[in-house]
Amino acid sequence: MNKLHTETLCIQAGYSPENGEPRQIPIIQSTTFKYATSEDMGKLFDLEASGYFYSRLQNPTCDMVAARIAALEGGTAAMLTGSGQAANFYALFNIASCGDHIVSSTAIYGGTFNLLGVTMKRMGIEVTFVDPDCTEEELQAAFRPNTKALFGETIANPALTVLDIEKFAKVAHANGVPLIIDNTFATPVNCRPIEWGADIVTHSTTKYMDGHGVAVGGCIVDSGKFDWTKYPEKFAGLCTPDDSYHGVTYTERFGLEGAFITKCTAQLMRDLGSVQSPQSAFYLGLGLESLPFRMKQHCANAQAIAEYLQSNEKVAWVKYCGLKGDKYYDLAQKYMPNGSCGVISFGLKGGRKAAETFMKNLKLGSIETHVADSRTCCLHPASATHRQMTDEQLTACGIGADLIRLSCGLENAEDLIADLAQAIEKA
Ligand SMILES: *Cc1c(COP(=O)(O)O)cnc(C)c1O
Repeated sequence: MNKLHTETLCIQAGYSPENGEPRQIPIIQSTTFKYATSEDMGKLFDLEASGYFYSRLQNPTCDMVAARIAALEGGTAAMLTGSGQAANFYALFNIASCGDHIVSSTAIYGGTFNLLGVTMKRMGIEVTFVDPDCTEEELQAAFRPNTKALFGETIANPALTVLDIEKFAKVAHANGVPLIIDNTFATPVNCRPIEWGADIVTHSTTKYMDGHGVAVGGCIVDSGKFDWTKYPEKFAGLCTPDDSYHGVTYTERFGLEGAFITKCTAQLMRDLGSVQSPQSAFYLGLGLESLPFRMKQHCANAQAIAEYLQSNEKVAWVKYCGLKGDKYYDLAQKYMPNGSCGVISFGLKGGRKAAETFMKNLKLGSIETHVADSRTCCLHPASATHRQMTDEQLTACGIGADLIRLSCGLENAEDLIADLAQAIEKA
């Protein structure tokens, strides 16, 4: 059969029931799994046979949904995590330890920025942040002999910058490290970073993949393309025996296609336990079924709303990579020709005060810190998430006091525009 399209994979990948089995992915809500003999179970513990024994390590529902996401991203293996935060932490901590170094784009989700800059720093892992629009030479200059990974987001939340994935992949590979891409905003419907050279892809499935605002979750997908064995000392954890797992050498036993995710499951999930529940994985699987259709509508709504905002004389500026003339329009056309995401930012000419009045008067758009689900939602960081900061501090971190972030949902675009129009009129 030819390579299946995204719409088909979203429905069919990860689960093919046999005679008499449930048609929909079943929720295996069980902590443990039964075996007839200790020997049978022992083989699983030694990673000699594959099978389930405890849902902190693996659960069939979670694995089926992870396999669906692996197929969507074009990867060889995947695992679900309890949140997007856990996915990014595990993906990095699986190869970086105390004394190591990571290079990351500055344009990343605030929670990830904190994870890298504060919490992982406390673990002895240093990070150098680089402007994603830097030259290859500037990016190269950030690397050190102990650098273990390069990290960035396809479309950054909330900066809405678009990453030049090929540029990042080229420099990562020239330095013998993998490129890890958080693909949450684009989703594999609009961009598959592995096709552009990324080695590992992460997701906060809490956003578009679930898409209905019902379950927090994350996912890590491995491309199977990065050859850890070329750098056995740098990636000793993957290329030398793991004493905490009966001396298994992940690259030897599981090959390049399975080593990264197996190590991540066997070590990090075993010891840190940020699992996704089978129930949440079921919601995620259900969300994935309609993802291509929802992304189309999110993008169409965002495009219509961005164009409307641009035409409104009370609007000072609009940022959306689908707008001609946007700084990231060309990169978005290259990496996401069929659409990017549903998130826009804009400012009103009346600045902070107008933004506050606008927010009070919105009716359909609700005020939330969340983004990227079926309901339109809106945030004015200067008066909500970032309210402790002065206007000068806000400008320094790229969030003007006037910035309004709008996540366009699946409602009718005319209704949304009418709501925005009346709220802007009052502001
Ligand atoms: C929300 C988000 C995260 C964190 O995910 P959680 O599921 O909230 O833990 C990470 N990366 C990006 C791009 C996000 O938008």
